[in-house]
Amino acid sequence: MRIGQVIVDIASSLVDKIFDYLLPEQDIAVGSRVLVPFGKIKKDGYLIKITENTNYDVIKLKTIIACIDDFPVITSDQLKLAEFMKEKFHIGMCDALRLFLPSELRQGKVKELTKTNCFIQDENKAKEFLSTTRSNAKAIIGIINYLLEHGSTTKTILANKFNSASLNKLIEQNIVQTQITKVRRTPYKSVDEEKQQKSITLTSTQQSIVDRVISEKNIYLLHGVTGSGKTEVYMHCMEKILENNQTGIMLVPEISLTPQVLMNFRSRFGENVAILHSGLSAGERFDEWQRILFGEAQIVVGARSAIFAPLKNIGLIVIDEEHDNSYTSDSNPRYNTIEIAKERAKISGASLVLGSATPSLISYHNAMVGNYQLLEMKERINKKELPPLKIVDMTNEIREGNIGVFSNSLKKALIKTIESGNQAMLFINRRGYASFLMCKKCGFVAKCEDCDVSLVYHKSEKSLKCHYCGNRYKVLTECPNCGNEELSTGAVGTERVVQEIKEFLPNVSISRMDNDTTKTKDSHLKILSDFRNGKTQILVGTQMIAKGHDFPSVTLVGIIDADVSLYQTSYTSNEQTFQLITQVAGRAGRADKAGEIYLQTYAPRHYVYRLASFYDYPAFYNKEINLRQTTLYPPFSKIIRILFTSENENLAKECTKVYYDDVKNLQSEFLNDFVYLGVMKSPIGRIQNKYRLQILMRIKPENEDKITDKLFEIADNHKMRDVKIFVEINPQNLN
Ligand code: ADP
Ligand code: ZN
Repeated sequence: MRIGQVIVDIASSLVDKIFDYLLPEQDIAVGSRVLVPFGKIKKDGYLIKITENTNYDVIKLKTIIACIDDFPVITSDQLKLAEFMKEKFHIGMCDALRLFLPSELRQGKVKELTKTNCFIQDENKAKEFLSTTRSNAKAIIGIINYLLEHGSTTKTILANKFNSASLNKLIEQNIVQTQITKVRRTPYKSVDEEKQQKSITLTSTQQSIVDRVISEKNIYLLHGVTGSGKTEVYMHCMEKILENNQTGIMLVPEISLTPQVLMNFRSRFGENVAILHSGLSAGERFDEWQRILFGEAQIVVGARSAIFAPLKNIGLIVIDEEHDNSYTSDSNPRYNTIEIAKERAKISGASLVLGSATPSLISYHNAMVGNYQLLEMKERINKKELPPLKIVDMTNEIREGNIGVFSNSLKKALIKTIESGNQAMLFINRRGYASFLMCKKCGFVAKCEDCDVSLVYHKSEKSLKCHYCGNRYKVLTECPNCGNEELSTGAVGTERVVQEIKEFLPNVSISRMDNDTTKTKDSHLKILSDFRNGKTQILVGTQMIAKGHDFPSVTLVGIIDADVSLYQTSYTSNEQTFQLITQVAGRAGRADKAGEIYLQTYAPRHYVYRLASFYDYPAFYNKEINLRQTTLYPPFSKIIRILFTSENENLAKECTKVYYDDVKNLQSEFLNDFVYLGVMKSPIGRIQNKYRLQILMRIKPENEDKITDKLFEIADNHKMRDVKIFVEINPQNLN
C-alpha cells in the first residue's frame, strides 16, 4: 500500500498539517502538485512524501484525484528547506511551499508564449515546386528561397517579409512545414545590448579569495571596502561553479540595484542567468522560474526571494551587501534570509559568501568568534584612495544666518562640480517635500485618519501623504483648527532638496530617485541610465541611491542630513548610520577622477561620524560591540517582539494581556535568561486602522531556541480570529 502525504494549499494555521491520501494507479512524483478531495470540495495540494503506512484508518482514506502539472514543481532540497522554515520561523508548510512557486502557477493565470517556426523538410520537393512556379509569383519564390538559405524562420518574420497569404498556401500544400515552440520572456532584455565585455585579470587578493571559496566549503564573510572589486570576485566564483556543473544563487538587496549587477552577469553568462524579483511581470517571473527548474539557467540573480529558486545541485550562494535591511522580511511570512541561506547551503553542500563593505555587527561578530571565515579586501582596485569625507557643522551655518538646506561649503562644491563637467549625488533619507505641515499659531499637525502618524507634505503633487498606509489628502492652505494661513514645514525631504538646487543652479538637470519617482516598472532603469549617460548631472535620492552603484563621473557626494538615521529609536541606529554613510560615500571617485564627500550634521563630534570619516570599520565595530556587550543587546541577546494587531482595540488589549501572563510564567521558568520583559503600545499605535500592541523581550542566547519554541506555542494557543499575532526575532523595525 502506498500512502501520499499531502499539504493542502490552504494558508491557514488551522489546517497546517499533513493529510494522508491513497495514491492513484498512475505514478506521481514527490514534489508534484495534486488535486485531492478535501471535505466536500476538491483542493490543490503538494505531495511531499510517499510512505508505506498511515496512522489513520486506511478504509477511510480518500484517493488523490490527479496530478496537476507534467512535472514536480518542488525539489527535494526545497522540501527540506520548508521543514527548516517551519521549525525555525514557525512558518506553516503551505506558506513556505508557496514561497517556492510563482503565484501565477497556483492561480493558473499565465499563458505560455508560443511562436511558430517555418522550415522546409524536403528540399528536393521544394526545388521541384519552384521550377513549376510561375515567375511572377514573387512571394512564393521568395519564401522558398529564403527558407532554403536561412533554415527555420518564424512565421511572423516570413509574413512580414513576404505575405501571409502565400505563406499559408505553401503550408497548406505541405511545401513548408511548421512547428510550434514555447518562447520564454526574458526580463531586462535591453541590458544585453549594453554589453561591456572587458576582460579582467583578478588581483592576487581577488584570486586567492576565489580559490579559497571554491576549494573549501564554508561560510565566508567577505569584508571589502567599496570599489575593492567584490562583484568581480562573485562572478569569477560563479564561473568556476559552472565549470563544475553546479549552480549558484546571487542575492542583491534591491531592484534598483539589480540592473547593474544583472548587466554584469548577463554580459558574462548570457542565457545562463535567470532573474527573480518582484518587479518582473507575471509572465516573466513564470518563465524565469521554469528556466531554472528545467536547468536552462544555472545562475539566479535576484532579491531575497531568489533564495527559494528551484535550482538543483547548488555550489555557491552569495549575499551581496549582506548588512542590508531588505534581507529581513518584516511582513508575512517573516524570515531572515541569511539564516535560510545558511540552511540551503548546508542542505546542498554549498559555500555561502556574505559580502559587504560594512558587515552587520552580528555577521562580523560571527567572523570574530570563528563561526564564519573572514576574507578581507582592504584596498580599492588600483590602490585608489577612498575619497576624503568632510563633516560640516550645521549649527555654524545657523549661527551665520544660513537656514537653507545646503551649507555654504557643500553649495560651493556642488557648483564647482557641475562647472567642471562632473556629476554629484545628494542623499537624503526622506522622500517628499517636508516631514509634516504645522500651524504656526496653534501647533496643529496634519495626521492620517487611519494611522497614528503625521502626514508628509508632497509639494509638487499638492498633497499630504501617509507613508505607512499610502492614504493621500489634499494639501492644507489654512489650519483646519484655527483658520490661520501660516503653516510651517517639517524636516527636509528629497523634493525640497531638488527645489533648492534649482535656486542656485537653475540650468542643471536633476533626477530624483525615491519611492515616488520609481513606481512604474522601468523607472529605476531610466533614472539610472540617464544619470550614467550624463543626461542628468545631479542625482538626488533616498537610500536607493546609496547601494552598489558604480558611476565613474561622480566626484561629489553630499549627505544632506545624516542625523535622520542617527536619531532613530533603535539599538541599531549607530550601526545603520555608519553603514549608510560608508555606502553613500563609496559612490564618489570610483574611476580616475578624485572624489569628495560632505556630510551635514548638527552633531559633528559624534563618534559614528568621526569613525565613518576615517572609513575605520574595525574601530567602529570594537566600540559598538563593547556597547552591545555591556548593555546586553544583540548579538549578546535576542530581541523578541510579539506584535498584536486588530481593528478592535479592546480585543487586542485582551489578547495581549492573556499572552503576557503566559510569558510571565515562562519568565519564571527561565529566570536567568530574560534580560528584559515589557508590554506596551507599539511606538506607532495604529496603522491602517489596526491597533498595535507589543510584548518586548530580550533573551540571552543559551536557551533562546527553547524559549522561542514556547513563544510560538503560546501564540498557537491564543489564536483569536480578529487579532493577528506576530512573533518577530531581532526585528529591524520596532515601529
Ligand atoms: P565593489 O563591489 O567591491 O564595490 P566592484 O566589483 O564594483 O567593487 O569593482 C569596482 C570597479 O573595479 C569596477 O568598475 C570593476 O569593473 C573594477 N574591477 C574589479 N576588479 C578588477 C580587476 N581585477 N582589474 C581591474 N578592474 C577591476
Ligand atoms: Zn495612514
